[in-house]
Amino acid sequence: MVQWSRGSGKREEEGQKGTGCSSPREVIGAGRTRVHGQGGVKFQNWAKTYGSSPELYFQPTSVEEIREILDMARQRNKRVKVVGGGHSPSDIACTDDFMIHMGKMNRILKVDKEKQQVTVEGGIFLSDLNVELSKHGLALANLGAVSEVAAAGVIGTGTHNTGIEHGILPTQVVELTLLTASGEILECSESVNGDIFQAARLHLGCLGVVLTVTFQCVPQFHLHEVAFPSTLTEVLDHLSDHLKRSKYFRFLWFPHSENVSVIYQDPTSKPSSSSASWFWDYAIGYYLLEFLLWISTFVPSLVRWINRFFFWLLFSSRVENVAISYKIFNYECRFKQHVQDWAIPIEKTKEALLELKAALENNPKMVAHYPVEVRFARGDEIWLSPCFRRDSCYMNIIMYRPYGKNVPRLNYWLTYEGIMKKHGGRPHWAKAHTCTRKDFETMYPAFPKFCAVREKLDPTGMFLNTYLEKVFY
Ligand SMILES: Cc1cc2nc3c(=O)[nH]c(=O)nc-3n(C[C@H](O)[C@H](O)[C@H](O)COP(=O)(O)OP(=O)(O)OC[C@H]3O[C@@H](n4cnc5c(N)ncnc54)[C@H](O)[C@@H]3O)c2cc1C
Repeated sequence: MVQWSRGSGKREEEGQKGTGCSSPREVIGAGRTRVHGQGGVKFQNWAKTYGSSPELYFQPTSVEEIREILDMARQRNKRVKVVGGGHSPSDIACTDDFMIHMGKMNRILKVDKEKQQVTVEGGIFLSDLNVELSKHGLALANLGAVSEVAAAGVIGTGTHNTGIEHGILPTQVVELTLLTASGEILECSESVNGDIFQAARLHLGCLGVVLTVTFQCVPQFHLHEVAFPSTLTEVLDHLSDHLKRSKYFRFLWFPHSENVSVIYQDPTSKPSSSSASWFWDYAIGYYLLEFLLWISTFVPSLVRWINRFFFWLLFSSRVENVAISYKIFNYECRFKQHVQDWAIPIEKTKEALLELKAALENNPKMVAHYPVEVRFARGDEIWLSPCFRRDSCYMNIIMYRPYGKNVPRLNYWLTYEGIMKKHGGRPHWAKAHTCTRKDFETMYPAFPKFCAVREKLDPTGMFLNTYLEKVFY
């Protein structure tokens, strides 16, 4: 069993990220449990695309403190939003009422080496968990592109990576505890509160406060990553071969071209080795790219040449790396960006991508930054999982914001959404989309069951916000 000290210096600093504070404070609670709420805090997500100004911002250190906050919210008729790493590229974590940041509830509570399971507080960042797990010879079987996200946050929106034998990250969760709006603590697993468990494994932050999460881990492993150039036609024609050849296969398509970078990641016993280079990765792949994309905001037709030029510069030869799993799973997401990421049935991958390619060819004014990142995930039983009962292909499109400047994307966005919808797509919950309750009722067979659980656990809608109103009303 490992104990973490609450709110180590590093985590407190991270907790402040994205917030600009003035100092009005309010102390609430009675007896020994008092909790400070801070006014004047501005919350912004990682991409600085969404933000809000919570009336009071809390960083509780115990369940009792969270209960006090919920009691006060009930008395004052306020809504509550819990935030993890604030990475969601949408307003899903925003509120103007009470915001709870879980950065000080970040301990590892138990490591069960026999079952290879770890129980953590909901606020722990996966970046910290990865390091601690490796000390016990354990690891998470799959991770998204970044680990500066909270355990309860990744299951809030259904974070995924790639690998057709692997489900989205919430499929690694075997137990969790939830503090509901009424102040009750519910333990949930397949066998205890089974229905609530299937809802809470992808909870949208609307069922209560996720206090603890238990992950099924695997023995620690290294990954061998091989990236090599290919073409869209080749990859789409041999998709099932690629899926068989590599445990964690994904590919990057460079819009306005046939260029593709194929990425295989597979467990290995080879020693660590890295081809990383500051010059190519940062000077070229970050700073030069950002500058050229900024120039292209004045001459949009440049984008197609930038995509081709950067493929030739950075992706046209074979590159290999070996490292501990989490260092390979995580990768540089470059500068601030808008993204969309829908999951479609895997058998629709080719048709949908070719339609997107044709739409770009037929609309020369519609520009698309690279890459379109294509990943795969196994079907699951989680009620609001975009992979519910079907193996899926996630197709992530991106428009960067060079030096914070927004690049027009409406046309591209709507065209993409239209194609995804046509092929039975379901949007990533973390990423902004235009869907409403009507869409979700069609997309998710278990949507009514989720709504019933939500209405039972939170009858007054304490955990709702603007994003969630569009989902449920
Ligand atoms: C650079 C970058 C890379 C990314 N890469 C990927 C990727 O590879 N794959 C992928 O699928 N997604 C990816 N995402 C999206 C990201 O994984 C999700 O947004 C994820 O939910 C972020 O976790 P978080 O801790 O920041 O959650 P937040 O954004 O802080 O919150 C997400 C939701 O969880 C709720 N929540 C958080 N903690 C609690 C709690 N304790 N109790 C109740 N509710 C809670 C919030 O209210 C909100 O509804 C990426 C995002 C960025 C910015």
